Amino acid sequence: MSDLQQLILDRIRDIPDYPQMGVLFKDITPLLADPSAFAEVVNELAGLHRVDKIVGIEARGFILAAPAAYKAGAGFVPVRKKGKLPSETLEASYDLEYGSATIEVHRDAFAPGDRVLIVDDVLATGGTACAAVELVRRAGADVVAIAVLMELASLRGRERLDGVELHSLVIV
Ligand code: AMP
Repeated sequence: MSDLQQLILDRIRDIPDYPQMGVLFKDITPLLADPSAFAEVVNELAGLHRVDKIVGIEARGFILAAPAAYKAGAGFVPVRKKGKLPSETLEASYDLEYGSATIEVHRDAFAPGDRVLIVDDVLATGGTACAAVELVRRAGADVVAIAVLMELASLRGRERLDGVELHSLVIV
């Protein structure tokens, strides 16, 4: 295991039964509060690929994607929960364990053929990342890869990504 992987594992805290019974929530706030760990993670994300835009998925994806975009000299694009973006949007829905969720991106967020990295904190079932890939593609851009701090391997989200390159800084 690399030093960075150990650093991430040491600073992500498990919260049992949050936000509901049976979920082991991966809390990244200790990592964000540690300036050197936060900087190392952001630098790692920024160095993965040469891209035009980095997409952050609401809400914790924003915290990682925005500084990574700044560092990489790329633009930042938010993918948000339905009803939060002010201009014309594209939307994609996906199933949750109970019910469904819808995320949106601005229709004009990308230039045609923009190379895009999608960033989030945790990959669980892969539904959110899969919907984000669909949105970026429908908006006319090219998804180069997805990057997450932590992949929860038992939920097999990777298999839903249909061959899109996935960088998981740690896999548990
Ligand atoms: P999924 O669509 O199932 O891959 O879930 C990924 C999204 O839900 C990400 O935006 C995560 O922030 C959040 N998420 C899912 N499961 C967890 C977890 N166990 N701990 C923290 N965040 C999670």
